[in-house]
Amino acid sequence: MNENSYETVIGLEVHAQLLTETKLFCSCRPEYGADPNTRVCPVCMGLPGALPVLNKESVTMAIMMGLALECDIAPESVFSRKNYFYPDCPKNYQISMYDKPLCGNGSLKIETDAGERTIGVERIHLEDDSGKMSHETGRGSLVDFNRCGVPLIEIVSRPDIRTGGEAAEYLMRLQQILRYLGICDGNLEEGSMRCDVNISLRRTGSGKLGTKTEIKNLNSFKAVQKGIEFEVERQRSLLERGKRVEQITNLWDQDRGRLVMMRSKEEAHDYRYFPEPDLLPLEVQGEWIEQAREMIPELPIERERRFKNEYGLSSYDCGVLCADKGVADYFEIVAKTTGLAKKSSNWVMREVMGELNNLACAIEDFPVYPENLAKLIKLVQDGTISGSAGREVFEEMIKSGGGPEEIIKRLGLEQISNSIEIESIIEEIISDHPDEVSRYREGKKKLLGFFVGQVMKKSRGKANPKLARDIIIGKLGG
Ligand SMILES: [Zn+2]
Repeated sequence: MNENSYETVIGLEVHAQLLTETKLFCSCRPEYGADPNTRVCPVCMGLPGALPVLNKESVTMAIMMGLALECDIAPESVFSRKNYFYPDCPKNYQISMYDKPLCGNGSLKIETDAGERTIGVERIHLEDDSGKMSHETGRGSLVDFNRCGVPLIEIVSRPDIRTGGEAAEYLMRLQQILRYLGICDGNLEEGSMRCDVNISLRRTGSGKLGTKTEIKNLNSFKAVQKGIEFEVERQRSLLERGKRVEQITNLWDQDRGRLVMMRSKEEAHDYRYFPEPDLLPLEVQGEWIEQAREMIPELPIERERRFKNEYGLSSYDCGVLCADKGVADYFEIVAKTTGLAKKSSNWVMREVMGELNNLACAIEDFPVYPENLAKLIKLVQDGTISGSAGREVFEEMIKSGGGPEEIIKRLGLEQISNSIEIESIIEEIISDHPDEVSRYREGKKKLLGFFVGQVMKKSRGKANPKLARDIIIGKLGG
């Protein structure tokens, strides 16, 4: 059977934890890593008589994400109870949105090998999080309710995604936007951004969807891509052998790089949704939406486009620089101060981002201020110091945090552009290397590089290499 006779249909459900001051329906403060069960109250524990009060900040954040993904914002949305019994959910229901979500009908553009693709966003709704179970040998099962009631938005894509790579790209773009908006830290490993995937295969050209399976517990872009590729192959092999795909939920086993079955359809939940009786329908008027709109900064795709036009950088460079809002801000200060966009982007992409990687440091905590890097780039550009001395100064700025002029003085790194000083160094080198001199004069002109290297070595990188080269040619003959 032809490999192309099936089409893969993938949809993603992404949960993002909002960075609000307080939980969704009470005044408890969400705090990752706090002692278990110390951030709870009767409301988030669902004790009898406790009433939820909606946190406006979380609604504003959800609207911001809705607008960023070009969604329609519903003038009226409704919270519903999603009933299920599980020990990490003390209310025995989750407050979510069901048939009347806050945002709907949006889209997100992604770059793929086949060019730009638009992935539909079916809905974005608000819901509260459950607690966290841990199962420990010898201590039984423990439950921490601190996370109960923490606000989440669930972003549900349309089944427009076709490959594991596209799914990873879509998720990466969502993470970038959440971070640009400052409404979620997007940390997949810590679970502040979580992703479930639905996958089905259908005959190419058929409008009917096949049976879909789900993968949960995907906590990295690589896991999303690998998990999907694994599942697509599994389904394809079943279909090609004339077998049925069962509706199951798989977990991704990170360590072994494979899927593990979690539950089958027989155990699927019936949530018996009904409108939450303790909350009024949520009404979002024009002014609220406009306030949220004003809080949206320039988003990554627009910024990449502007960097391309304004600074004349390649798409690749723009993508790297704009991946993190802090890095993009940093680059802009450097580029504007120096007026040297390409040189600035080289320094930021190589030296700065390399060091951020080495130090496992966020750009906000980077010891070299962008203004100081800009000064350094200008000092290299105007020949006050050499390129190699520039890197030495940069290292020193990371260690001591000072400005470049002071470090250049302290380390004595000013470039020697004084021809008398360089001449005397060259004379010494000529007398130390008579063999090379005669070979050069016999026509081995490649030795010019050797002499320039010697000058740089003797001057500890401080000699102006162009000047040194001219003087050597003058003394030895062209
Ligand atoms: Zn609470």
